[in-house]
Amino acid sequence: MKKIEHIGIAVNDLEEANKVYAAVMGKPHYKTEAVVSEGVNTSFFEIGESKIELLAATSEDSAIAKSILKRGEGMHHIAFAVDDIEAEIKRLKNEGFQLLNEQPKTGADNKLVVFMHPKEANGVLIELCQEIR
Ligand code: ZN
Repeated sequence: MKKIEHIGIAVNDLEEANKVYAAVMGKPHYKTEAVVSEGVNTSFFEIGESKIELLAATSEDSAIAKSILKRGEGMHHIAFAVDDIEAEIKRLKNEGFQLLNEQPKTGADNKLVVFMHPKEANGVLIELCQEIR
């Protein structure tokens, strides 16, 4: 794991949350992106070498909609940047961790991503992401 790539925050209303976080961070988001396969709209704020990713559901069966229904808005996941996602998947499986998807999928921001179930890591949903080269 190289660094915290981003922290994902589940929000009800992306436009409203963009205003809140722009005020908090003192600068506007630098991009928005729809991830149709995941049923989410995202927006990104830069903070040093990491990012804040706001996520709003676009359909009721998206993971973000379900998460907000269960836990309300708030911190959703921590994403670690990795150089070689296949190697990290292998390493984590050897450590006995269970991944939510073993085939990396295409996420927002030009990344291959896999997720590890929160029960595997003390209640934190962990995302690994690798830049698509
Ligand atoms: Zn993420």
